[in-house]
Amino acid sequence: PYVLEARGVTKIFGNHTALDAIDFGLRPGEVHALLGENGAGKSTLIKVLTGAYQPDVGGVFVDGAPVTLDNPLHAQTHGIGTVYQEVNLLPNRSVAENLYLGHQPTRFGLVDHKKMEAAAKTLLERYGLAIDPGSDLGSHSVAVQQIVAIARAVELSGKVLILDEPTASLDRNEVERLFEVIADLKQSGLAIIFITHFLDQVFAISDRVTVLRNGKLVDTRQLDSVSRTD
Ligand code: ADP
Ligand code: ADP
Repeated sequence: PYVLEARGVTKIFGNHTALDAIDFGLRPGEVHALLGENGAGKSTLIKVLTGAYQPDVGGVFVDGAPVTLDNPLHAQTHGIGTVYQEVNLLPNRSVAENLYLGHQPTRFGLVDHKKMEAAAKTLLERYGLAIDPGSDLGSHSVAVQQIVAIARAVELSGKVLILDEPTASLDRNEVERLFEVIADLKQSGLAIIFITHFLDQVFAISDRVTVLRNGKLVDTRQLDSVSRTD
């Protein structure tokens, strides 16, 4: 029972095969690491899974049913949210606005900032963030912004969270904090894809790892707790 699956996905750019007959399945409550060197095809696979690219061969399945995803917003309606390395939220808008603006239908009406900020405060607390929801997002550290982006994605989507190299610009403590957030979300049953090229981070939080090399899936395996570093 996969919540999100790529079956036999091939993606070709010009004469370069970026993905070669990839089978990838994500289970509920699983942190699934996607590991591979630059150019391995990680981003391309994510883009296929979120509808940013269409596969040349094969297909994407949500809860076992084939879906044609036209774009990432469409993926969102299927419960799939993505947070990229560069937090692409609005630094000059408040934390609350970044959490809730664009929700369909806008849950708080267009103007009720008080209600929105109260809801934001409660939500932020669940993520361990004691920050003012009315403050500008850009006034906070990248790590905090990252967690806000995750909270937004989970609120909007709620089934699958794709984290594309989320630790790239975080320091050691911030990585630990992010991993706590990921562990909590996993506990709640969310399925998480964690893209990284740091092997230690794979072992620290992942239940499963899939390795891509040159567009091919070279290994996928369950990680048991004894193999972890801590
Ligand atoms: P990774 O995320 O693992 O670094 P990518 O999925 O970004 O790898 O890239 C896999 C291969 O596909 C690379 O050779 C890359 O240059 C190529 N590629 C990705 N997107 C495009 C595109 N839009 N047009 C042409 N080539 C692309
Ligand atoms: P990342 O792997 O971190 O996503 P990339 O440098 O691979 O970063 O890709 C940046 C963007 O450029 C992506 O949208 C990717 O699909 C696109 N891209 C990558 N390689 C090529 C390429 N050879 N030709 C055209 N677009 C590409």
